[in-house]
Amino acid sequence: MRNKILFAGCMILAVGVAIGYYVSESGLNLVDSVQAAGGGDTSGRAMMADPNGTVTDPFHYHPGTEPLGKDEIRVIACGTGMPAARRGQAASCFVVELGNGDKFLFDIGTGSMRNVMGLSIPADYLTKVFLSHLHTDHWGDLDALWAGGWTGGRTTPLNVWGPAGSREDMGTKYAVENFLRANNWDYVTRAVKISSVPGSIIIHEFDYKGINEVVYEENGVVIRTIPAVHAGDGPVSFILEWNDYKVVYAGDTAPNKWFMEYCQDVDLLINECMLTPEQLMRFYGQPPQRAMMMQQDIHTSAQAFGKIASVLEPRHAVAYHFFNEEGTRYEIYEAIRTTYDGPLSMADDNMVWNISRDGVTERMVVSNDDAWDTAGPTPPPGPDHKFPHQESQFILDGRWDVSDVEDPAFADFKEKHGLK
Ligand SMILES: [Zn+2]
Ligand SMILES: [Zn+2]
Repeated sequence: MRNKILFAGCMILAVGVAIGYYVSESGLNLVDSVQAAGGGDTSGRAMMADPNGTVTDPFHYHPGTEPLGKDEIRVIACGTGMPAARRGQAASCFVVELGNGDKFLFDIGTGSMRNVMGLSIPADYLTKVFLSHLHTDHWGDLDALWAGGWTGGRTTPLNVWGPAGSREDMGTKYAVENFLRANNWDYVTRAVKISSVPGSIIIHEFDYKGINEVVYEENGVVIRTIPAVHAGDGPVSFILEWNDYKVVYAGDTAPNKWFMEYCQDVDLLINECMLTPEQLMRFYGQPPQRAMMMQQDIHTSAQAFGKIASVLEPRHAVAYHFFNEEGTRYEIYEAIRTTYDGPLSMADDNMVWNISRDGVTERMVVSNDDAWDTAGPTPPPGPDHKFPHQESQFILDGRWDVSDVEDPAFADFKEKHGLK
């Protein structure tokens, strides 16, 4: 983790030196930080003028401590790795927060909910999920959001947008309906004990062949899709526009003509960038043919990533979908740099970007490994009594009577809260 943070810091400095790009808004400017702390030194070091004062942290975002400007966007990488999600890097997931209060999840890959939890965002604000495609590294943690958000205080159904497939059994509706079928025991037992409404999922399926078609439009936010070229018909890329900003989330895709046509004038370009063929062989155990297939048929190589970014000229480009560490990132970075010299992040989990008129900043999230659910303003609904009791007399008769220890222990609690 320390290496990752150091690398992120070095990336900011390197980019800043190389192309005059700098950290500038939201009080994140190093110079502002120093002056806010009461110092006049502009050498770039944070300063604490008062021995009992506070010190700003220009390289990190601490969730829950920093309001998002009304005109700003914050994007947080909660999963940036590969399908074999590892403890240090989950599979694809990006949380997009807008200054108007709207929040969206783009993909919810395996393992990513651990990072989402660290953001301390109330479950009621995380009800809109956009799936780029149905590989589990892009939706494998839907169960954690669905049930965890439910027990964590979500009061409304979850909404999932995703592409229809080329056949009914290859589409999002099929996938999510069968997800709910598979989780029927979970659903029924929670519905009868807690509430049923937050356990529903409203599915918004759209045509994957739509070209720059609107799939979401509300509150000044427009989300469009274009087809992606990835392993089979169905995958899409998302284009979010709000407040004259544009964020593109490519999902998985080989370079394609729709992307180059509709993803121009983009503020933040999040595009996959695969491990190099050598890395796929050395570290991922793939034979050469498969390594090349991964590079050229179904994903985007580092060189192609650079070419895409060079042509689209985003304000900031984000490469993700590779195991990011000392042994891999420099080789991928150098390959990208053969075709692109603009602002670039080599994404890792818990990297965060703030987009404003002044610039795009990259920092790392420092979040709480042990964060609890954060309550929103709406109290959760009660149990749904339309569901019959799920415990038979056989099971109820199996209870062992412990009232002799529990009744005295809980008497005060029951009286205090008016319980029988
Ligand atoms: Zn995929
Ligand atoms: Zn993927």
